[in-house]
Amino acid sequence: MKTLITGGAGFIGSHLAQALLDAGHDVFVLDDLSTGSIDNIEPLKTHSRFDYAIDTITNQPVLAEHIDRCDVVFHLAAAVGVQLIIDAPVRTIETNVGGTEVVLKHAAKKRKLVVIASTSEVYGKSTAIPFREDADLVLGSTRQHRWAYACSKAIDEFLALAYWKERRLPVIILRLFNTVGPRQTGRYGMVIPTFVRQALAGDPITVFGTGTQTRSFGYVGDVVRGMMALVDEPRAVGDVFNLGNSGEITIRELAELVKTMAKSDSEIVTIPYAEAYERGFEDMPRRVPDLTKIKHLVGYEPRVQLPDILTGVIEHHRAQRKEYV
Ligand code: UDP
Repeated sequence: MKTLITGGAGFIGSHLAQALLDAGHDVFVLDDLSTGSIDNIEPLKTHSRFDYAIDTITNQPVLAEHIDRCDVVFHLAAAVGVQLIIDAPVRTIETNVGGTEVVLKHAAKKRKLVVIASTSEVYGKSTAIPFREDADLVLGSTRQHRWAYACSKAIDEFLALAYWKERRLPVIILRLFNTVGPRQTGRYGMVIPTFVRQALAGDPITVFGTGTQTRSFGYVGDVVRGMMALVDEPRAVGDVFNLGNSGEITIRELAELVKTMAKSDSEIVTIPYAEAYERGFEDMPRRVPDLTKIKHLVGYEPRVQLPDILTGVIEHHRAQRKEYV
C-alpha cells in the first residue's frame, strides 16, 4: 500500500510509520510539527520507502496532491492533550474540525480509504462501563473547554460517517483509549510521561483530583497493530471501533507503580483539578473500553500490559536524560 499519515511525526503517527514500513508499505508523512517532532521521524528518513513534508493539512493543494498519490490515509493530525485543549481551545476546535473536513473532502474525490483517529474522550462523563461503540455520549457544559475536544472529535466521526453514507467514501473510525509508550511527551498533560519524568527527576509526582479516577492504558505497538488489521478488513469500513487495552488502574496506583518501578524517592502529592487545569474542570471517573467488536472482527488482543509499558517508557526517559546531561 501507499500510505499517507497526517500527523505522522507525532507519537502514534511515528510508531505507525515505522510499523507500515516494516510491513513493506510506502509511507508519506505530512506534519506541521505543532505538537509532533522531527526527532520522531529522524530514524525513518533514510528509508527508501519513506518521505515527508513539513506542512499543515489545511494547505489544501499539498494535501490533495499527497492524497492523490496514496491508497490509504491515516488521519492522525489533531490537537491532543487535555492541557493543550484547556490552553488553546480555538486551535483545538479549528484543527480538529477544519482539518478532518479537508482530509475527507479531498479523499472523497478519489474514494481513498480514510482511517480517522478519534478518541475515548467522546464517551465523556458516561458511567456505562465498559464503553461500547454504540453507547450514548455524555458531555458536559460548553463552558468547560475540555468538552470541546470530545465534541470536535464527535463532529469528525459524524462527518466521516456522513461521507460514507452519502458519497460512499470508505472510512474507519478508531476511538483510541489513552495510548502510551516511548516517545510520548508530557508537554500537553499526558499522565504517564509526566509521572515518569517527575519520578526520575526526584520531583513531586502530581496526582490530580483524588487519584481514584481510573484509566486503561493501551500500548502504542498494540494500537498500531490494531489499526493495520482493520485496514486489511473490508467489513471494518463505515464503522467505529474502540482500540486500546481494558486493564484498569487508578491514577494514585499508577503514581505508586511508577515511583516503585523508577526506584524513585519522589513524594506523591495531590493537586485539586481547579489548580491543575481550570475552575470547574470535570474529569471522568472511569474510562474502560469494551473491545469485543474489534476482537470479533480481526482477532485483536492487546499483548503489552502496563508494567512492561512503564519499563519501556522509563528506559526511554533515562536514555533521554543521559543524552541531555
Ligand atoms: N493526571 C494526573 N497528574 C498529571 C497528569 C494527569 O493526575 O500530572 C490525571 C488526569 O487528571 C486524568 C488522568 O491522569 O485523570 C489521565 O490524564 P491524561 O491527561 O493522560 O489523559 P486523559 O485520560 O485525561 O485524556
